[in-house]
Amino acid sequence: MQRLLLHWFREFGRDLPWRRTHRPYEVWISEMMLQQTQVKTMLPYYHRWMERFPDVPSLASSSEEEVLRLWAGLGYYSRAVNLRKAARIMVREHGGRLPRDHQALLRLPGIGRYSAGAIMSIAFNEDFPVVDGNVERILARIFDVAIPVKQGEGLKAIWEVAERLLPGGDGRRFNQALMDLGAGVCLARKPLCEVCPVKGLCRALRGGVAGERPVSAARKPAIPIDVAIGVLVHEGKVLIQKRPPVGLMANLWEFPGGRVTNGEAPEEAVVREFLEELNVGVRCHSKIALIRHSYTSFRVALHAFWCRLQGDGGKMTLNGAVEARWVEVEELSDYPFPAANRKLISMLRTGAGDPSRSRTTIR
Ligand code: SF4
Repeated sequence: MQRLLLHWFREFGRDLPWRRTHRPYEVWISEMMLQQTQVKTMLPYYHRWMERFPDVPSLASSSEEEVLRLWAGLGYYSRAVNLRKAARIMVREHGGRLPRDHQALLRLPGIGRYSAGAIMSIAFNEDFPVVDGNVERILARIFDVAIPVKQGEGLKAIWEVAERLLPGGDGRRFNQALMDLGAGVCLARKPLCEVCPVKGLCRALRGGVAGERPVSAARKPAIPIDVAIGVLVHEGKVLIQKRPPVGLMANLWEFPGGRVTNGEAPEEAVVREFLEELNVGVRCHSKIALIRHSYTSFRVALHAFWCRLQGDGGKMTLNGAVEARWVEVEELSDYPFPAANRKLISMLRTGAGDPSRSRTTIR
């Protein structure tokens, strides 16, 4: 298997920017960006990031707001916050570089067993295994693992196999070959077994169960929630607010609003939320859009409205947010927003959410 995979990788391995240099900093950033994100999505972010933060010290001296702004759109914002925190620790304790030490890497914020293994093997060519969703799937198929591999015994077995399979001294190429096989051949939905370099060894293929591996554990269904937000317009600007530094979507900006409670119309929820969060009286005058967005545990239906101040609105006080600002619509892209808010912003910027137009539903 090692021979077949390495041979295949020589010919079909992907040419990716961080693979040309194997610079530890570049490998680290790429691995963090690639979590839950595909290569073609992350590449523009990666290039922008490297331009602005070419090394650990430049990242360490950045502000959290700038880091979040560059990350806006990739989701899972704690990854960006942790990158900056880890960079600051590297400057303090490791001479401004990534430590070539598995245990020291594991102590850094945001770096777990997978990332530490990826950095040790890809950046330093040390023999450490990596197990992500791709590797779980490949190994569960080749060895026909008939139990869930996301946790417990199944996951433990996959890590053991990944470690045993490492060819001594060639961890970098072997792990990258596994990653590329998962990304391009052993696909989740339709594995391309006919072009697979290890098809002769694959027990799931032989048993006709490749499509049933890996066995998935029962997942909790996503909870549907209705959220109503208001785009409050005043003197040509709109109001945005910043979330607190801890908790869900920490430090991101958003349009004021909140969950629609039982029996409440979305417009009523907007008016109530403005009063509760900001002590500002508003009225909704038209619906902009209904935006549907799925997070890991929630399916959000986001009702967005154009709002105006009720009278003079009253004196603003912050009861949940840490900051509020009046900004031009064109300036909204300078701020990091959660994904569903960003869908709304792209509508506002293209004029699709113009109050004179009919309401829209986007997904
Ligand atoms: Fe995956 Fe098919 Fe290759 Fe088996 S033969 S590892 S199922 S692509």
